[in-house]
Amino acid sequence: MINVTKTFLPAKEKYLKYVDEIFESGWVTNSGPLVQALEERLADYLGVKNIILVANGTVALEIAYRLMKLEGDVITTPFSHVSTAAMLVSNGLTPVFADIDPTTFNLNPKNIESVITEETSAIVPVHIFGNACEVEEIESIAKKHKLKVIYDAAHIFDTKYKGESLLNFGDVSTLSLHATKLFHTIEGGALIVDDDVLAAEARSLRYFGLDGQDSVKFLGTNGTMNEFEAAMGLCLLDEMEAVLAARREVFEYYESALKDVVTLQKQNENSTPSYGYFPVLLKTEEVLLRAQKALNETGVFPRRYFRPSLDTLPYIKKSVVMPVSRDVSSRILSLPLYSTVGREMQKKIIDTLMANI
Ligand SMILES: *Cc1c(COP(=O)(O)O)cnc(C)c1O
Repeated sequence: MINVTKTFLPAKEKYLKYVDEIFESGWVTNSGPLVQALEERLADYLGVKNIILVANGTVALEIAYRLMKLEGDVITTPFSHVSTAAMLVSNGLTPVFADIDPTTFNLNPKNIESVITEETSAIVPVHIFGNACEVEEIESIAKKHKLKVIYDAAHIFDTKYKGESLLNFGDVSTLSLHATKLFHTIEGGALIVDDDVLAAEARSLRYFGLDGQDSVKFLGTNGTMNEFEAAMGLCLLDEMEAVLAARREVFEYYESALKDVVTLQKQNENSTPSYGYFPVLLKTEEVLLRAQKALNETGVFPRRYFRPSLDTLPYIKKSVVMPVSRDVSSRILSLPLYSTVGREMQKKIIDTLMANI
């Protein structure tokens, strides 16, 4: 069975060395030495100032929203993982959607200003499928209207925008380090923030808002990453360059075979590609269902990322229909993309797809 992704695992012996260390120290969670080491190494690897590791990408969003003291309405994209909007609602915020660009699939900056009101406190764009948002345009809108910008950067890792880490844009960026993402710690997430004071506050928020041992300073949550998860990250970080290079080959082979056959995501020209996903936009949902069925019959299971369009969620109060997002989400399919798909398998996937669209 070939799925949309396959979790990359390190050599078992390498991981077990870290497990030995954990058993020797007896320190299994609560910002242990491995979490601290991974934070340092990641900051260095990615070229960011502060990175705060947390339990998953969902709690990273929750902490980011609280860290930025958001209130009222937050403008966000309807085309994302459900987590982006769900954490707004569960933190008492109202998602206000602005539709996506039909070519980049990202929040269209041209649709942002018309939905800004007195109630708006922030913009939460997503670099969807790892494609960089138009960060400069979004920054100038945010500055003009005094809004915070939080990037849900769950689909990127070492992506550069004009030579700098894309994670350095916005007031905060959040990562998901789930097993299905580019770089993972089994379950995990992270916040990237420049300001040292905010970084310290984020560390407090991930641990019940405690300030020292006994006093509570902020409304926190429990979002700590444990040592076994950090160990996985430390093992994988050594291999990331090779993993990304292999993903790049898979990505480029799909691209050259399919660019004239289906609609591909238009990549931001100022940014490096992320190689996390290979979405294809088909003509209609009917064509998609036909292609999906044919692929399933050969044991290949692509995913319909991202569906449903978030403006259809049952708990969205001020929802307005987002036609572009609904249309894209009805006919987009993510093909298997991971370092070991293999050329033969890719050929089979491409042939099956081409014969059924
Ligand atoms: C995966 C994902 C999340 C949630 O991350 P978890 O680590 O699974 O909690 C949030 N936003 C986006 C865009 C995602 O793809």
